[in-house]
Amino acid sequence: MNYTDLGAEYLNEFESFDDHETVRRFELEDGIIAFIAVHNTNLGPALGGCRMKRYTNEAEAINDVLRLSRGMTYKNALAGLPLGGGKAVIVGDYRTQKTAELMQAMGAAVESFEGAYVTAEDSGTSEEDMVEMSTQTDHVTGLPPEMLEGSDYGNLGGNPSPLTALGCYHGVLSAVQHRYQGEKTLKDLTVSVQGVGAVGLELAKLLKQDGAKIIAADIAQDHLDKAKSELGDVEIVSPDDIFGVEADIFAPCAMGGALNDETIAQLKVDIIAGAANNQLLKSHHDKMLVEKNILYVPDYVINSGGVICVGYEYFRKSGYNPQDFNIERGAMVAHVEQISQTVTDILVQAQDRSLPTGETADQLAEEKFLQGAALKSVDDESNPEDGSNFGSNDGTRLVQ
Ligand code: NAD
Repeated sequence: MNYTDLGAEYLNEFESFDDHETVRRFELEDGIIAFIAVHNTNLGPALGGCRMKRYTNEAEAINDVLRLSRGMTYKNALAGLPLGGGKAVIVGDYRTQKTAELMQAMGAAVESFEGAYVTAEDSGTSEEDMVEMSTQTDHVTGLPPEMLEGSDYGNLGGNPSPLTALGCYHGVLSAVQHRYQGEKTLKDLTVSVQGVGAVGLELAKLLKQDGAKIIAADIAQDHLDKAKSELGDVEIVSPDDIFGVEADIFAPCAMGGALNDETIAQLKVDIIAGAANNQLLKSHHDKMLVEKNILYVPDYVINSGGVICVGYEYFRKSGYNPQDFNIERGAMVAHVEQISQTVTDILVQAQDRSLPTGETADQLAEEKFLQGAALKSVDDESNPEDGSNFGSNDGTRLVQ
């Protein structure tokens, strides 16, 4: 597998560069380029999905892989996983350029990290693609349950979306408790849900079971039809109107950037808590929500159920389990439910620190993975040959 490691001198030009440990450029086949970035492995091997997307140029793809891999370090740290952050992007159109051979070549690219990067599904890639990659590397997770059957997987594996929804539901409960201090529960509240896809619909069902009133919007008519038939009593509004409806909680479950100057101005809710990634278009929108007295539950914390799910599958598959987790489904579900406590901690800390919740979550994540570095360096000194250690404190380690 041919690759080039991109050095800090070159990467410094990119706004999303943050002392990433390794950033590698691959030429897969037919001129298709891919990048894998490992941001930080202080807490363990870097887990993050593989995206396939058309980028206008290589610089755009590099910025994306740098930004997304850094985000995974923060997400995995606050999810309480012994995992660092990484991400992969394949520069191409997944509808027309994806082949089994391409995915196998990507599997070989993942293998070049010898376990320091673990890949999974992301937008533009599928479970089937993970199967192709798994012919070249063991460092892939999110495989179909039938591939795992008979191999003592304890019911791990499979579609992570219901677990993401479950984690969001527990995060919503914590936000409701924090905001209303027991004076209101879900049966008193209305939730506006933007996007009733895999996660949004499951979340809406859980909230409705607790008596919440649901208002939903989606751009796909078939998804709205499904929501109506599965939720029963649900008010549907247009995608443009979902921001301004009278509700108590807004749950963004569609695409990134839902919270921006224009939409925040329309919101009349007390709480924002939903599954979408990168909800804040710009970092200052965190503060803007505080100014509007809206309690924002940081997206990467509340939506970490999916990564916990694929993380447990990887722990089972690889035998990597430094914290002696009980690697079976019940324990994994209990881990997802702990998102509730993490959300509470962030909301309380934000109050104590007089900071926006997003900024507080980032600080708490940094405390965790920097502490991971300190622990690791103690470990390195006592056991310098131990190959189970990942990463470095100075961000210069190259995994060969
Ligand atoms: P999905 O594609 O199944 O659902 C997204 C839904 O949003 C679709 O129904 C789509 O039609 C709708 N939508 C798109 N644009 C919209 C708009 N402008 N207005 C209203 N609806 C719109 O995706 P998903 O798996 O449910 O993921 C939803 C979000 O959660 C994404 O941002 C994803 O990155 C994030 N997320 C998902 C998981 C997971 O386990 N699936 C994990 C973490 C984060």
